[in-house]
Amino acid sequence: MFMDLHMHSNYSDGKHTPEEMIEAAIGIGYEAMAITDHVWKSSPWVPAYAAHLQTLKRKYRHRIRLYSGIEAKVVSLDGDIDADPSFDALVDLILGSIHRIPKPDGYYSTADGDRLPRRAIIEHWLEAFCRMLENPRVDIIAHPLSELKKFGIREEELPMAEITDRIAASGKILELNVRYNTPDQSVIRLSAQKGTAFLISSDSHTVRDLVLNSRLVKEFTGGGFRLVDIDRYVREKKNCPPPISGS
Ligand SMILES: [Zn+2]
Ligand SMILES: [Zn+2]
Repeated sequence: MFMDLHMHSNYSDGKHTPEEMIEAAIGIGYEAMAITDHVWKSSPWVPAYAAHLQTLKRKYRHRIRLYSGIEAKVVSLDGDIDADPSFDALVDLILGSIHRIPKPDGYYSTADGDRLPRRAIIEHWLEAFCRMLENPRVDIIAHPLSELKKFGIREEELPMAEITDRIAASGKILELNVRYNTPDQSVIRLSAQKGTAFLISSDSHTVRDLVLNSRLVKEFTGGGFRLVDIDRYVREKKNCPPPISGS
């Protein structure tokens, strides 16, 4: 299925409304899409956002399959995410991402990059990443490993076999993010061998990004990856029966 399940609207830091993103996605020819705005534990707008997307699902149901989602960043080494648990039932998909690498007393800062011990950064990243994989609230691992690049840490320095084993064992969906061009080839290759399900995302913040990046999304979609059956995934997650045809 030609789809893009990671993009932002003006509910968070995107430029355009959900309707504008949906119309653009239909224009590109996507069969399915998700709007996945950034949230924080304290975001008061999430119920209204989820209700709005619910209305849009109905409005556009004959033109595109719309999923609702949120992107929540990992806030601590124990893999906790920055989303109130009450949000979980309101949306179809939760993207987990590491935007800043946690340490016991906060986060690593790229401003101190050169002075920081690389081993500690890698160990703390690995701990937070693996605990996120164990977090049952997370469905999709968004832009995996992208945050390590900010510290100049390359895939050769990481235990790739262990990381990809853990991704496969978690059963979570691995995102190929064309905006950040991540994860690296070795993660993709090993994860494909280990049976991990992929999805290709643009992580767009504007209609222009959505259109420009759709070419790469299309290219990767035809690249032989085992893509997740998102309709089935969401139905199973929400314990819903298959849709009645014609409804
Ligand atoms: Zn992100
Ligand atoms: Zn994003």
